[in-house]
Amino acid sequence: MEIKFIINQLKDEKPYLKSVLDLYERVLNFNEKTEKVLEESKSEDLIDKILDEFSSIFEIPYEFVSFLKESLLRIGKDPFKEPNIILQLPIGEEKISNEDIKRALFILAKPFFIKFRKDLKVSKKFEEIGRCPICEKPVSLAMIDIDNKRHIVCTFCGHKEEIFRIGCSYCMQKICENIDLLVDEDEIRVELCKDCKTYIKSFKNDVYQKYKDPYLIDIISLPLDVVAQERGYIRRSPNAIGIEIIK
Ligand SMILES: [Zn+2]
Ligand SMILES: [Zn+2]
Repeated sequence: MEIKFIINQLKDEKPYLKSVLDLYERVLNFNEKTEKVLEESKSEDLIDKILDEFSSIFEIPYEFVSFLKESLLRIGKDPFKEPNIILQLPIGEEKISNEDIKRALFILAKPFFIKFRKDLKVSKKFEEIGRCPICEKPVSLAMIDIDNKRHIVCTFCGHKEEIFRIGCSYCMQKICENIDLLVDEDEIRVELCKDCKTYIKSFKNDVYQKYKDPYLIDIISLPLDVVAQERGYIRRSPNAIGIEIIK
């Protein structure tokens, strides 16, 4: 089943998620288009073409996009080697909230993180550093495969890697009793670490087979984020549309 078909079905089934699913469709479109750009364009054109796609897909005014480009040039670093600089672009726009700017920059940073991952040879393992070994961000999402093995999924750079089955991927404690579990009606779960108050989402292979996309599963289970955060637990990295803290 095509992912877009699944999303349309979800909009009918879960009308309360329509606006986030609309945004995720645009994110998918942006990721698809920029993947092509990364494959086909000359390196000196990459930034311009990515910004063009960003501007047209998210209907962002040209002035703002050229402001982004100027800020990037002023920093003078290669964003494909240091994709974090996209996340930290200084934007003092009075009309837009900080949280919205953070989300927009997260979405814009995706192709830069993807290229960074593809260009990098990793020697470290997730378990050595407790962060994504590519981009060194904490993770908030994991897939459990048919052999009951757990794989983290990085929402920044798309890296996937097998890690220990039980325990916290943030503080790395592995005591079963210190992890609480909440499960929603789709069998998507949150694993709550009582030690460091971090939570991550996880889901088994049958859930994956139903939705075919870990980032989509993360997004449709937003109500779980609400519950976990209301209980005082912390999400350490955003979902694919840039949502980390729910207010
Ligand atoms: Zn990563
Ligand atoms: Zn922990």
